[in-house]
Amino acid sequence: MVEELDPFKIAQEQLDEAAEMMKLDKTAHEILREPMRTISVNIPAKMRDGTVKVFKGFRVQYNDARGPGKGGIRYHPAENLNTVKALAAWMTWKTALANIPYGGAKGGIICDPKSMNDTELENLSRAYIRAIGKFIGPKVDVPAPDVYTNPQIMAWMMDEYSKLVGHNEFGVITGKPLEVWGSEGRFDSTALGGMYVLREAAKRLNLDPKKAKIAIQGFGNAGRFAYELSQKVFGAKIVAITDSKGGVYDPAGLDYDKLQAAKAKGTVEDYKGADRITNEELFKLDVDIIIPAAIENQITRKNADKIKAKLVLELANGPVTPEADKIMFEKGIVDMPDFLVNSGGVIVSYFEWVQNTQNYYWTEQDVYSKLDQIMTRSYNDVIGTQDVYRKKGKKISPRMAAYIVAVDRVARAMKVRGWY
Ligand code: GLU
Repeated sequence: MVEELDPFKIAQEQLDEAAEMMKLDKTAHEILREPMRTISVNIPAKMRDGTVKVFKGFRVQYNDARGPGKGGIRYHPAENLNTVKALAAWMTWKTALANIPYGGAKGGIICDPKSMNDTELENLSRAYIRAIGKFIGPKVDVPAPDVYTNPQIMAWMMDEYSKLVGHNEFGVITGKPLEVWGSEGRFDSTALGGMYVLREAAKRLNLDPKKAKIAIQGFGNAGRFAYELSQKVFGAKIVAITDSKGGVYDPAGLDYDKLQAAKAKGTVEDYKGADRITNEELFKLDVDIIIPAAIENQITRKNADKIKAKLVLELANGPVTPEADKIMFEKGIVDMPDFLVNSGGVIVSYFEWVQNTQNYYWTEQDVYSKLDQIMTRSYNDVIGTQDVYRKKGKKISPRMAAYIVAVDRVARAMKVRGWY
């Protein structure tokens, strides 16, 4: 049988497994298997040569029983509706596990941002907001950055939305630059949240992050900061890193400045003085911790049994397929699921939105300590649920436990609202 790689089918499969384990009500399950609303838009945007190119975009609002939709917008040539649907489902579980007052949503545009200049990106971003403007808002659905989008793009989007409604509406989008009331600490919050999970998980495994050998896949919004922070917070040693082209490995540890310099010219692969590796080879290395921080479907049944690490921290969304998940679970590898590990981004987005709503702004220290509290609480909720099931004689993975906590919260909200 071919391995299932369609992210939405995977998301449904994960939900089905959790539903069975927790004996979820049938109607609640049926509601949660599909998005509440799917928006597809056709977006004309002016290019640098004066021609108009028509792009395809999506916004999926998966569930809003616990609050407005929340989730990033991705720009990617291989974007497609099913990936956005899966990511919107995972956002629903992410905000529920973090216990912040949102539902889940996600957006995407099929485009190649690397080949576009700033004017083209600005035109496209504004056109996307004009297309979905009626369906978003601080109380409805609040977008944010994701793969290949950034604070500048969020600023253009917030500005376009403000023009549409006729007044400044900073709280419509999070992940904005500080000049237009972004939050302190938002830019590296996804990775920082992951570091708090790393701290807790390593403690349980008796693993010293300072001595552990770490490999990171990805050098973007999540991977680069995971590198920086694991050194800053733990003095950890990163022995391998890759980006979309490939990467490098040095068992003695890599040098961050040299990596930055190589990346500035194109790819970390051009780092001198270390062995070149492919993305595939990264997963087979003799390391203690692997942090997938790139895209979906990176650990599959083809490479899961080659993993030597004791701990996998999913900083990307959907990097592990269900089959790989099972293989790792049976091998005793602790795999911390994406919607726990990478929830720091949306948690600080929540702080940003709260600050925008109150017009009262916090220090970086406030943000960090509140983020730590929520991440640690979520981690303990997952571990606590594993314990509850262990006492019932069932050994469940951290992902299953996270699903059970999150789905239960969403189902309860739907129930008291009278949706089923
Ligand atoms: N794109 C990030 C995620 O996948 C952040 C979403 C947000 O801040 O709303 O969690």
